[in-house]
Parts: sequence; C-alpha cells; structure tokens
Amino acid sequence: MKASQFLIATLREDPQDAQVASHRLMLRSGLVRKVGAGLYHILPMGLRVIRKIEAIVREEMNRTGAMEFQLPVLIPAELWEKSGRWNTMGKEMFRLKDRHDVWNVLGPTHEESFTDLMSQILRSYRDLPVNVYQIHTKFRDEIRPRFGVIRSREFIMKDAYSFHADAASLDETYQKMRGAYRQIFQRSGLETVPVEADSGSMGGSGSEEFMVPSEIGEEVLLLSDEYRSNQEKTPVLYAELGDTAEGSSPKNAASDKGSSGGGKKAANSGTAAAPTLADLQIIDTPKIRTIEELAQFLKCQTAELLKSVVYRTENGLVFIGIRGDRDINEVKLKNHLGCLELNPASDADFTKIGSVPGSAGPFDLKVADNLQILFDRSALTADTWITGANRKDKHVKGFYLTAEQKAGAVDLALAVNGDPSPAGDGLLREMRGIEVGHIFKLGDKYTKAFGLTVLDPDQKPIVPIMGCYGIGINRTMATVIEQNHDDKGIVWPISVAPFEVCLVSITKTEEEKSQAQAVYESMLSAGLDVLWDDRDLRPGVRFNDAELLGYPIRVTLGKFYFQDGEAEIQIRNSGESLKQKAGKDTSDLLKKLGEIKSELFAALQG
Ligand code: ATP
Ligand code: MG
Repeated sequence: MKASQFLIATLREDPQDAQVASHRLMLRSGLVRKVGAGLYHILPMGLRVIRKIEAIVREEMNRTGAMEFQLPVLIPAELWEKSGRWNTMGKEMFRLKDRHDVWNVLGPTHEESFTDLMSQILRSYRDLPVNVYQIHTKFRDEIRPRFGVIRSREFIMKDAYSFHADAASLDETYQKMRGAYRQIFQRSGLETVPVEADSGSMGGSGSEEFMVPSEIGEEVLLLSDEYRSNQEKTPVLYAELGDTAEGSSPKNAASDKGSSGGGKKAANSGTAAAPTLADLQIIDTPKIRTIEELAQFLKCQTAELLKSVVYRTENGLVFIGIRGDRDINEVKLKNHLGCLELNPASDADFTKIGSVPGSAGPFDLKVADNLQILFDRSALTADTWITGANRKDKHVKGFYLTAEQKAGAVDLALAVNGDPSPAGDGLLREMRGIEVGHIFKLGDKYTKAFGLTVLDPDQKPIVPIMGCYGIGINRTMATVIEQNHDDKGIVWPISVAPFEVCLVSITKTEEEKSQAQAVYESMLSAGLDVLWDDRDLRPGVRFNDAELLGYPIRVTLGKFYFQDGEAEIQIRNSGESLKQKAGKDTSDLLKKLGEIKSELFAALQG
C-alpha cells in the first residue's frame, strides 16, 4: 500500500473529549472518527487492525472445532418473548417496529437466535457437542457510552454458543474456550487476568471474565496468589465469626455460609423477641444523616454502627441492615432477591414503612409494599448495635438481632482490598480492570425455552445444556492501545498492527524515487505487510505519523541508502535503530526484516 493513495487521517492536536489514552490515540491516529454518542466510523487504518484481531480470533476458534455462522443483527421480538428477555432486558436493548407494526430487536447478544436456529438443526446426541459462533455487530443502548470504542453502542463481538448432552462435556468445551482465549489475547499482545465472575440469579455453575488490568477499568478485581475474582462475586469473610477458608470455596461461600447462623456470636442473645423502641435507649442525634456523620458525632468507628439501606425493586421494598463500614454488593443482593431492578427507596417509601431516611432502623417497621427485612452477615459480628430509631434526629443503642434474623443473615456486602482471601492465603488486593472477554456456563435456560431437544442413545429426548463465550473486538483493539503506547503514540504488537512495516523514502530525484519503488516492490514480493510512505511531505511529519500510528518496524531510505545502499531500520517497541546494507537486490535487507519480524511474532507466543 502506498501512503499517497491511502487516507492517513491523523490529527495534529489532541481531541477535546477523549479522556483516556486509547481513545485519544485512536482519534489522533485516524483509526476511528466519532459520529454520535457511542458511535464510531472505523477508518481504513482502524479496520486493518480490527480485521487482524478478527483473524486471530477466527483461527483460534476454528482450531477448537467451533463453526462460524452469520446471523442477522435484526431479530424478531418473538424470539425474545420466547426466552422471556423481551421483558427483562430493559432499556439497553434497541427495539424497533417495522412497517408491518411488528417489533424487532437490534441484537445485543444472540442466545435466542442461535438456540432457535440450532433447535431446527440438532437431532441426536451424536450431533453434540457443538460450538457455533459469529463475529458480528452488536447493539447496546449503553446508559453511559464512554472511553471511545471501549463502551460504545454499536460494536463487533465474537459470540459463541455451545450445546452439550451433559455437564462433563460442557466443562470440556468451557476449558477449551479458556485455553483459546488465553491464546487469542496473548497473540494480540494483550495481558489479561482471568477472574471468577458472577453467574447471575440463574446460578450458572461457572463464569470467568478476562480482564485487562487498567486504572481506567470499570471492574474491580480482588486477587491473592490463589484467588482471582470480580468484586461482584467475592464473598466476605469475618475473622470474628470464625470464618475460615475451608469450605468457603468462592462458589458457595456467598450463600451457604450465611445460613450457618454466624458462629460463636450467635449463641448469646439467641431466644429474645425482636426489640421495639421501648426496649432500646434513644439517643439524640441532631441533623445527623449519614453513617460517617453519626460515627463522628458519637466518636466511634463506623464499624460499631448498624447501617440501614432501603431499596425498591420491581417486587416491592427491601430493608437491609449492614455494618456501618460495609457497602451493599448490589449483584449479590439482586441474585439473592431474584430481582432485576434495584433503586434507592424514596422519602415516601420510608414514610410508608414508618421510618425516616437518615435515621432508619430494622425494627418496628410497618409492612408495606412486600417489605422484606434482611441482614448482611456483618450484622452478626456484634451482639448489640447503635442504629436508626425510625424517628428524625434520633438513633438507638442496644439493638439486637433475633435468632431467626441471625439464622437468615446472608452475605450481601462488597468485598474490598484487605479482606481475607476466600482461598485462605492472606489478604485480597484490589486492582481495576477492563473486561475484554467472558466465558459462561449457561445451563438449560435457552434450550428449555426454545424446546431444543435431541434424542439420546435410547431414543429418548433430552434437553442439552449450553455455554456462551464472548469477546469484544473493538474493545480488544482499544485495550491493546491502552497497554501499548508511549508519549509519541501507539506501539502496536506486530500481530495486530495496521501495517507491519512502514517504508519512508526521502528522495530528491526521479531516479531515487524509482529505486525506492523497487525496494517497496521487493518487500511486497517477500510477503511483507508494508505501507510505503511516499507522500510529498517533510520527513519529520512522516516520521511523526509513523510513530503515532505505531508501525512495529520502520525502514528509512535516505541519503545513505542512495549513496551507499544502507537503509535504516527502527523498531518501535524497543526504540532500537540499526543500519542495514540492502545488498544488490535488497536481499540482505529483506532477510534482516524477516528476522526482526519473526522475533517480534515470537515474543507474542506463550
Ligand atoms: P460490560 O460489563 O463491560 O458491560 P458485559 O458483561 O455487558 O460487559 P458481555 O455481555 O459479556 O459484556 O459481552 C461480551 C464482550 O463484549 C465483553 O467482554 C466486551 O469485550 C464486549 N462488550 C460488551 N459491551 C460492550 C460495549 N458497550 N462496547 C464495546 N464492547 C462491549
Ligand atoms: Mg454490559
């Protein structure tokens, strides 16, 4: 490719609205241009990167035996009604009516489409296991599109769906996908950390996210040597409750441990009836609204106070008592309640249940709107608590949980940096990350909904179970840049660079120009993925563009080349620069470039 015929749409100035490095660099280097909120044109330079990432994904998926399809982005709503997600997907899903007044969906994901399709194709257990995928456009009306293509409203995803006769077979494919994902990210020059992830209220048995460590990440990861998890999934353990790592594997700790009644502390005030205001000591707390203000006012730690948090769900109100130093993990709470919506209760909601915001306490409440009272396990760490009095400017001392409330306490708290590791190997460290891929055991939700059955060896119909596996292609491109850039621009891993080699010629005469042309053509013949920057621009401008665009190898043909046949080779990631005699037919130069290229690729192998 000749740069004089290629649109290099670099910008001189940093774009105004880009907050993160990858977004800024993608705009500056002319990989993408913004059209609207969360919408980006992909320009030729960007598309070359996208296509290379797609090729790596495709190669690794095919290697596992997965089969590529392409399904419409536009999906009849009927399929989503079948799965029930027409009602549960919320505003993130784009919905549109066609000219016949029929509702359709712009696919945010394709479980419905693939399950429906496979229900027409799969017949026998012999057809299983099968893994089907596509690399195609998705739409999501994200509430906060941001960071360029990291969170956009239209993006490309590789999404795969596997079908199995039993759990062992699903696990085998799941493990294969794990391996393929490691390969894909490694080959793309992306360092990722796989972490355990929430598998939703469906209680799926396995889910892992591939995270790119990054300060701008929206996900919080909690890690120890033996434990890697998304914060949303991490159980909280309390030394005070005799929690140990034993038996609290990340999978069951969250729900099972809670019902054990909270260990030693639970014995004390076990049989007493629920306290009412008359049993408690009222304290004046003028103008105190938050737990921090209360702790300051009482000169104590927030951990000595019991905080009340009230939510409204689609099923009514829920009141949670949680230790003052802890926050609610809304994912755990949603899973526990099996609800979809979680919004802070309004002042009117507090009035309905006989309470007041800022001074709410888990006693004497009026049951309204299905009010459910829950306690986080942190409420088991003391016998009595200071908590809200359900009266403005008042709190109470001496509140305690009944035996029943203790037994019902569940883990609803957000784990944080410094909490005990569920693997029993010390304390958890916090790190931020960007999710680039997700693998998930789905179970039979979709096969059941679509009546997908196959005949087993005894000719009896069975309902297969599924796994699903996603990778964001544009997000992968952006995170590669997040991880690989310097103050001059992008530093592409060679595997996904728009061009592997940039040839810059500084010619004065037509004769020199035709010599440069010959070098360029020999590079093409040698199979190098080369851009010849033959533009009629000052060398400095072209060098800056080459650095901004981050080609892994730059070859300069300048004065020394045309005098003595000596080219200059620069390697973007090491900054190394070397002189290379081209040889009569450029064979020495080509040989050297071949070696450098192999080394750069080899560095991306595991
Ligand atoms: P997130 O929590 O970031 O919204 P998700 O859990 O909704 O991600 P999945 O439904 O698992 O994502 O989608 C699979 C992959 O698609 C993600 O790992 C991510 O790489 C990519 N992806 C998801 N949403 C977007 C988006 N709005 N823009 C770009 N890529 C996305
Ligand atoms: Mg999402």
